[in-house]
Amino acid sequence: MDSWLSGRSVRRRFVRLRAGAALVLLVLASAGTYAAWSLTTSRTREYVQDQAAETLAVQAEVLNGVLEKYRLIPPLLARQDEIALLFASLASDAYIENRARTLAEEITGLSGARDVAFFAADGKLLSAARDIFGDEPAGRAELLKAAKENRLGRTVALLKGENRVYAFGAGVRRNGRLMGVVAVYVGFDAVERAWALSADPIFVTDSDGIIFLSNRQDWLLKPVSEIDAKFNPETADALTHIDVMRDLPLMGWQLHVLGDRSRVVSAQSAAIGFSLLIFLLVAVIVFFQIGRIEGRVMLRRRDRALALRLERAVRDRTKELSLANQSLSHEIDERIEAERELKRVQRELIQTAKLAGVGQMAATLSHEINQPLAAIETYAANTKRALALKKDEIADDNLNRITAMVARISELSGTLLAFSRRPETKTEPVPVKVALHEALILIRPKADRAGVAIDVDPALESVVVDAGRIRLSQVFVNLFSNAIDALSGRPDGRIAVDLKSAGETVCLHVSDNGPGIAPELANEVFEPFFTTRTGQGNGIGLSIVYNIMQDFGGSVTLLPGDGGAVFELRLKSALP
Ligand code: ADP
Repeated sequence: MDSWLSGRSVRRRFVRLRAGAALVLLVLASAGTYAAWSLTTSRTREYVQDQAAETLAVQAEVLNGVLEKYRLIPPLLARQDEIALLFASLASDAYIENRARTLAEEITGLSGARDVAFFAADGKLLSAARDIFGDEPAGRAELLKAAKENRLGRTVALLKGENRVYAFGAGVRRNGRLMGVVAVYVGFDAVERAWALSADPIFVTDSDGIIFLSNRQDWLLKPVSEIDAKFNPETADALTHIDVMRDLPLMGWQLHVLGDRSRVVSAQSAAIGFSLLIFLLVAVIVFFQIGRIEGRVMLRRRDRALALRLERAVRDRTKELSLANQSLSHEIDERIEAERELKRVQRELIQTAKLAGVGQMAATLSHEINQPLAAIETYAANTKRALALKKDEIADDNLNRITAMVARISELSGTLLAFSRRPETKTEPVPVKVALHEALILIRPKADRAGVAIDVDPALESVVVDAGRIRLSQVFVNLFSNAIDALSGRPDGRIAVDLKSAGETVCLHVSDNGPGIAPELANEVFEPFFTTRTGQGNGIGLSIVYNIMQDFGGSVTLLPGDGGAVFELRLKSALP
């Protein structure tokens, strides 16, 4: 098993990678979403708070402006003699009453106040411009109390149980004595009109916690605790609104503006949605990329596996080939060895056959030696006698004959010795006439006995072939010997050696005028142990001729003919 990962383990790794990535993304998404949520919350909250605070500041000014406008009217009126005169006469006559009403209506009309009233020092209503009071003039007790303490009276008042007004009051004093109170009542219509433009709830609570001014009509005159239950920052409902509050210490009030918390909520949802969307997008990209990487890894793995398979196949095939190669070269070695052995055996055979031939020729050859030896003996005896008779000429002639005969014997025995030697294995330039001469020395006695003539083409004198001398002699000896055997008993037996052509290849014909060989035996005669001369022949003569010619790189073939046998020898010429 190689170190490369299997397909399944790659897939398992990527499953783990995906799970890890999902986990990391989940954690990041949670953290990111939380961060976005908290950032948006604080930002939006700040924004809503700022908006509400702005509204608060403006509306506080509106309220202050309205009240401020009327604050100085009662003290100014209190200093007027005309007003003091109203309280001078305690008698409640109709004139004073009318006068007071007229004044009150004038001031009301000029200032735009809701009402102007005069109270006597004992609290009795002297006169008022409009009949806005019920049985008890609103805020009278508080205004009287302030007047007695010689300060500007200011109080919230309810007219006829539901109309809310603000009252300023100043004491009218003459000679240090409190004569009465001038009260100016201010309505909140203008303020409420201004507040109505704001979408955020705005309300004012007095020191008792009662909402007496608001742009929400249904909240009016309700204790703030009731409303606050909805907007109490401590409760869960605070989620819907953000309460921004300012004290108005002069009046002992609190002005509230409720910022719309839903903006925060919608910003939060937008932030959460947006960050989730981003993380979804990131997740899609991450998983897409992981998928791509996995695809690439799988592709590389497949390529690698393919390459490995190929490599392995090549390796196996190479191994098979090298095994086959080894066995082939082993076989070749064996064959070479067998061939070498065959050559050696053939050489042995050639040698053996040659010696056998020599053995066969022994009788003839010994006759060939014995005859001159006997003659030498006779000539020697004659020479002795001639010397004794002082016939030097005869003795000299005899000695010459003896010398010639010794030379003949010595040539024969020398040739026999050379022929019997183990032949050389290589080839060299050999004059055909030398080999023929050797063969003839050996075969001539047999031919002579059989009365067979051997004719050699004089053209062969100068022919030199690439061969071995002893082996070429053996070829001729064998061919001549076979022909003489075939011709035995014939009176006109004749063997001819002819040169047919002498180019690069030298072509010779060895023919006889014997019975010839049947054409169907043309190949068989060269087979070892083929013989028709049962009991006399061993059938290896022609097979040796065939092998020797092969060794020379030449050939021997039996030519078809109507007369005797014709053997064609082809040899490489050794002449340039
Ligand atoms: P052997 O001579 O011992 O029989 P060889 O191989 O020399 O063996 O010859 C094989 C046969 O070829 C001979 O038996 C003979 O029948 C035939 N043969 C060879 N040379 C001649 C020839 N010149 N004429 C007729 N027959 C021949």
